[in-house]
Amino acid sequence: MALVAHDNCKVDLLEWAEFNRDVLRDHVVVATGTTGTMLEYELGLDVTRVNSGPLGGDLQIGARISEGAIDVLVFLWDPLEPQPHDPDVKALLRIATLCDVPVACNRATADFLISSPLFGGDRRTRPAHDSARSRRARGA
Ligand code: PGA
Repeated sequence: MALVAHDNCKVDLLEWAEFNRDVLRDHVVVATGTTGTMLEYELGLDVTRVNSGPLGGDLQIGARISEGAIDVLVFLWDPLEPQPHDPDVKALLRIATLCDVPVACNRATADFLISSPLFGGDRRTRPAHDSARSRRARGA
């Protein structure tokens, strides 16, 4: 799963991750640079870190989603502050939607996802990129 939080949302993500630490330990966690460092140092989680969001990290996570390597995205983006990498934020949300990856953009949704009976299971009955929406995009 992938975890990303904008600066004003990092405390929220940290609290959420701490509450769910035991579940997260059982999953491969990928995170953008600063978010990942925070999760490693504050909670002792084993995290694969990509670049910081403003330096391409959102795009790296988006690329992994497009490869089918991410099943769940928790992306606490800041609705009150413009970001220098707003286009990357939009790209990440777009590719996650296209690939039918569940996305939580706030803690409430993250709670729903992580407590879902589908979480951690093999939810996919079809390959990534094969939602009706992506088939329509491909003209298939
Ligand atoms: P960060 O990136 O974890 O490196 O702060 C998050 C983001 O801005 O997308």
